[in-house]
Amino acid sequence: MTETIFSKIISREIPATIVYEDDLAIAFTDINSQAPTHILVIPKKPIPKLDDCTESDQALLGHLLVCIPKIAQQAGLSDGYRVVINNGNDGGQTVYHLHLHILGGRQMIWPPG
Ligand code: 5GP
Repeated sequence: MTETIFSKIISREIPATIVYEDDLAIAFTDINSQAPTHILVIPKKPIPKLDDCTESDQALLGHLLVCIPKIAQQAGLSDGYRVVINNGNDGGQTVYHLHLHILGGRQMIWPPG
């Protein structure tokens, strides 16, 4: 996998506002917030996109999801939030390192654009 901006955030080559970190995951605020709170949760393992996940990633994917309520609570999102994974071109993915968006702090609408 080619290096992405997110692998450079993991290695601290470029700065980010990191709000959570453990052995497997790191979370930081999105540089172009689409909501009052917009946090990206990524695995440290460089998986390009959801399509590339295999059975061997099952525990890691579960871990990322389990981290989210903790991160959301820490961010004060007590009234709910949205979790989004953009996958591939039609999904609107722009950075090819798997990431989960946490969006909150305002009422979300459906369907998303
Ligand atoms: P995607 O469109 O791939 O689902 O989401 C990529 C997200 O990464 C976008 O929301 C974009 O604003 C964010 N992003 C891109 N480059 C950077 C960066 O250098 N730093 C941070 N914190 N976020 C970034």
